[in-house]
Amino acid sequence: MTGSRLFASMAAVVLLSACASAQHEVATSPVQLTPQIVIAGAPEFIRVSAPGATSVDAEWLTRKIAFFRDGDDWVALAGVDVEAPVGPSTLHITAHISGHAQDFARTIEIHAAHYRTESLGVQPKFVEPSPEALKLIHEQSEFKAKVFASSAPGPLWHGDFHAPVAAAATDSFGTRRMFNGKLASIHKGADFRAHMGTPVYASNSGVVVIARPLYFEGNCVVIDHGMGLFTESMHFSRIDVKEGQRVKTGDLLGLSGATGRVTGPHLHWAVRWQGAYLDPIKLLKLDLQDASTAEKSTASRPHRRRRR
Ligand SMILES: [Zn+2]
Repeated sequence: MTGSRLFASMAAVVLLSACASAQHEVATSPVQLTPQIVIAGAPEFIRVSAPGATSVDAEWLTRKIAFFRDGDDWVALAGVDVEAPVGPSTLHITAHISGHAQDFARTIEIHAAHYRTESLGVQPKFVEPSPEALKLIHEQSEFKAKVFASSAPGPLWHGDFHAPVAAAATDSFGTRRMFNGKLASIHKGADFRAHMGTPVYASNSGVVVIARPLYFEGNCVVIDHGMGLFTESMHFSRIDVKEGQRVKTGDLLGLSGATGRVTGPHLHWAVRWQGAYLDPIKLLKLDLQDASTAEKSTASRPHRRRRR
């Protein structure tokens, strides 16, 4: 347990003791979201208490959520896209218990995130690509769409996600960016201040589905963690994995660099879930240690540790 996590646990204990009624509400709700306050761009870990259920399915903001079993509970890693509309949303959850469907629908308020706007200067070819470059960009976007369209049916990730690089992360997710004063786009990942040649590691286990140079991404590595969850690492100076390769948490993917649309060497790291881009730094903060993968799903766990 890290110092910050220990502190967070202690703070949570103090907070929970201070509001007994809130604690009661949390403890009795069959559906629990972590974090409880849902912000546009945030990953959400969903736990549904449905003893006796043979399956649980859900839909939220037009995306289907795949659950897997964890003892008597069903859990899923989901999230809200950075561009999701703020306001109330309906999380439709259905548990199938001995032949009938039980509805656990909940209204979830999506809160606005306050992202900054910034201006950057990059090479002109990235703002006004040539006709040949546009053809390449089009082909690559079709390739990426095909890759993202299929994901392992069960979770390949296990436990917490770890930072991909030993370098400071910038608070850059969700920033509205102007490139050369012209093109506006939303920054859908987190930039780490990685010097040229810094080792980049797999944040969790999965299968490498992209390991090749791309126009904007530069040398790019994408890992499928299953059930529509991918992590993308960009601008490598060197790639050390191959497409189709299975990786474990901490495996070397390559070295950071400055290839593609960059202003200098850094690691761009993104988290994509069913086409939604989620704040990678928030994913790193989620406590997923007691969430089993499907392989462990049949093991009985009479007293699961309470999530804090
Ligand atoms: Zn970036």
